[in-house]
Amino acid sequence: MKAAILTSPQDISKHPLEIGDVPQPEAKPGQVLLRVHACGVCRTDLHIVEGELPPRRERVVPGHQIVGEILEGATAELPLGTRVGVCWLGGVDGSCWYCQRGLENLCDSPTFTGYTVDGGYAEYARARSDFVFPLPAALDDLHAAPLLCAGIIGFRSLRVAGVEHGERVGLFGFGASAHLTIAVLRAWKCEVYVSTRGASHRRLAASLGATWVGSETEKPPVELDRAITFAPSGDVVVAALGSLRKGGVVAINAIHLDRIPEFDYDRLLWGERQLRSVTNLTRCDARDFLKTAAEIGLRAQVTAFPLDQANQALLAVKTDAIDGAAVIIP
Ligand SMILES: [Zn+2]
Ligand SMILES: [Zn+2]
Repeated sequence: MKAAILTSPQDISKHPLEIGDVPQPEAKPGQVLLRVHACGVCRTDLHIVEGELPPRRERVVPGHQIVGEILEGATAELPLGTRVGVCWLGGVDGSCWYCQRGLENLCDSPTFTGYTVDGGYAEYARARSDFVFPLPAALDDLHAAPLLCAGIIGFRSLRVAGVEHGERVGLFGFGASAHLTIAVLRAWKCEVYVSTRGASHRRLAASLGATWVGSETEKPPVELDRAITFAPSGDVVVAALGSLRKGGVVAINAIHLDRIPEFDYDRLLWGERQLRSVTNLTRCDARDFLKTAAEIGLRAQVTAFPLDQANQALLAVKTDAIDGAAVIIP
């Protein structure tokens, strides 16, 4: 089968992914084999391909927002041909302290799709049967793919930040995840304040119902109840903290940050403000979000790339060259 393969991480401008032929995977017991219809491109893929996340295997096929159709390993619950989604959390041990307490996102021995096992930048992929999610018919392949990480993680960020209906919420950065998150916030009647670089991202935010839109250095005109940061930048985290009311929460939606600069505790954190990270996701987050997405008619903004253009798709994510999400169609 054709796949995009990573063997030595380097800057995406050097095109580290090699497009070539690899053996088609086979489903082992407890797994399904999928024909990949679409695979979303996530900033985490960029961190893997560029090496900010250390390599876990000699070679890996990236991609963890897979929409595919079951070809092997069908069961009564997942019949042949079922269209399912696969996300970043590809498996957990089910036995560690965290798994036993419903915190499988923090599992000590997790499997990560497209990182510790091969992912969906390929014609076929396999996945654990208990970590695939049947997709509503209303969501077509192209538009379902970005929901599977950008969407679910954005939804989890709202939970981590403790967002309640009608609150004032800041989104710092406006890429694939934020443009889906704003739809949920609008459905919850929240006022949304967006700080982001790039005029086209600001226009998109305004068109999706943001109450206020500013550049990445601009401070929202009101104090926020919650803020979610999407950019892999510690400066943005500090800017978000500086926008909170007392008792407010910043949720950092980034698997990698450059660093967090020194900041003034007395002014920025005192007053029971909280700084929290968002780590992975649970299957419960995935199911709840996909249900919400179907209910509110959530529609991702997408740009499709053929598999041959996987490097270009990642470069587009890195340079914020596209609005919304990039999706690879094998
Ligand atoms: Zn992701
Ligand atoms: Zn565990």
